[in-house]
Amino acid sequence: MSDSIQYNFSPGPALLPKEVFDQGAKALVNYNNSGLSIAEISHRSPIFESLLEEATQLIKELYKVPSHFEVIWVSGGASSQLAIAPMNLLREGESMAFIESGYWAKKAINATREIRAVEVLASSSGNSYTKLPELKITECRSKYLHLSSNETIEGLQYSEYPDVGKPLVLDMTSDFLVRDIPFDRVAIAFASAQKNFGIAGITCVLVNTNYLLDEKDVNIPSIFNYRTHIAHKSLYHTLPTFPMYMSLLALRWIKNKGGIQQMQRNATERSSLLYKVIDEHPKLKSITLDYRSKMNVCFKTNTALEEEQLKNHLKENNIIGINGFPTIGGFRASMYNFMPIESVEFLCKILNEF
Ligand code: PLP
Repeated sequence: MSDSIQYNFSPGPALLPKEVFDQGAKALVNYNNSGLSIAEISHRSPIFESLLEEATQLIKELYKVPSHFEVIWVSGGASSQLAIAPMNLLREGESMAFIESGYWAKKAINATREIRAVEVLASSSGNSYTKLPELKITECRSKYLHLSSNETIEGLQYSEYPDVGKPLVLDMTSDFLVRDIPFDRVAIAFASAQKNFGIAGITCVLVNTNYLLDEKDVNIPSIFNYRTHIAHKSLYHTLPTFPMYMSLLALRWIKNKGGIQQMQRNATERSSLLYKVIDEHPKLKSITLDYRSKMNVCFKTNTALEEEQLKNHLKENNIIGINGFPTIGGFRASMYNFMPIESVEFLCKILNEF
């Protein structure tokens, strides 16, 4: 492995602070001087139960989670939740509303459609998802509104969540622990860890128990039922122990650095710096026109030749993970909770040299 600094702007899995990786590496060999690797510890051992409890408490504390919410941890990614949330919330004949804001909203629509009916309230496909759709409706027939809080691929983010008078199902995979959650109108909020609070392998789900269907109304396998995971305190089956520990370390780091308000300020500072350089640069243009994301900054050059030149210039300066999603092209700088401001300043300098 090279010792040279890499500036990693990858959309996820994303970077973690060196001290978190160092602690994780130590635990992989010998967890807290137990003589055991964190990867060989039983998920039912007191050691693991205590770290799981600490991580759960940290989520509750950082988000001031109300008492009628349960925090559960499940193995796997957020994609599963796109299907599991509607399974847990909708009876036969009921539907979920969506705002088709980009790639992840479309994925969610398709996942729900496999199980229940969907109602699309607005779409920005006509604008190639360069802005969030305008919501003109006055009536929503569905029981819930699903929102992709931040469209990771297109670089669009709600500054405030729209209100159609229905509880929200929030996919916060790319802006979890970066912004507040309006708990008074949320049914479910979820995010996988590999962008903002850990490594791939685990997902955190906040469940408003007031909205869970009665047992008699749920006709799904136990493993998909949120009630199962709540009843077993996330230990119904083997939670991936190492990813869970990495999330705990990441959560401790977030708390020590000032919590969600500070993460929010950092995200604003990083993205403002970068958008300013892009907006003032003669050879660069922002791809998104409105509701520009603080997490994923998407931009392009004026010509294909310049795109090639910029790609090389970035590569020569060890800036990696910054190519746009293949269907969109251009560039996308992803800057989650652990992205140091110094790396963004360096990227700005390199762009200004171009
Ligand atoms: N939702 C959003 C907004 C995402 O950005 C992603 C992944 O990038 C997902 C869902 C899917 O997450 P996972 O890859 O953990 O299944």
